Amino acid sequence: MLRISAAIRIAALPRNARKTAALSSAPPKQMARFRFIWRRAAAPFALLAVLTLPVSFADQRTANWAGDFPPCHRRFELFKREPMNLGVKISTSNPMLAREFRQAMDFWSRVLEMNWHEDDSDSCAVQLVDGTPAILKTSIVARSQFTEWDNFQGWIAFNPRAPLSNNEMYLTAVHEIGHMLGLKHNPSTHSVMYYLDLEGSEVLDQADLTTLAGRHKLRVASVTEPIAVRQR
Ligand SMILES: [Zn+2]
Repeated sequence: MLRISAAIRIAALPRNARKTAALSSAPPKQMARFRFIWRRAAAPFALLAVLTLPVSFADQRTANWAGDFPPCHRRFELFKREPMNLGVKISTSNPMLAREFRQAMDFWSRVLEMNWHEDDSDSCAVQLVDGTPAILKTSIVARSQFTEWDNFQGWIAFNPRAPLSNNEMYLTAVHEIGHMLGLKHNPSTHSVMYYLDLEGSEVLDQADLTTLAGRHKLRVASVTEPIAVRQR
């Protein structure tokens, strides 16, 4: 059960709750691509929901979640080492989320040798979709697919009605796109790839950048200098 709660990234957890969160959740051994909203008042209910998930949930899956969306035919552009040219299909009904997602793509294009453009056709590499309750169970607000698992179609699902601030949408988008670019969860509480979203600044740290550099060309000169993930 610890591993399950560890595999869930929780938004808007205050810094002073970090210790509690750390105690209740061991560092993830396996990447999970969904993000969970956690409000103080709702925390006991959210925790209950987490603990009642099947124990095997995080460990035994090898196939991605499915959905009734067209596949992105150029999704394997995400695997390229040389400069990527990513078509992004933005299919959410939430215009604020669409805006924050574009900002998150812009962030990544400053970190990696990557250009992106909007592509409303099936030639996309990434598609932002409105997640259904079957994909986003309970309070999960966002979830990306695993690039390595079966049925990878290039989809990132968000709950378009999740009560997220603009900054939470942005940070969640950066996190989920980070998974698409090959990052797993980072045990450092300061990393944007930490499975919880704590209040305060978030960075790509040396571990994140080293992993990225093994997979893509970076625009930044050094992997040892943390990169702040700022809204704008
Ligand atoms: Zn994650």
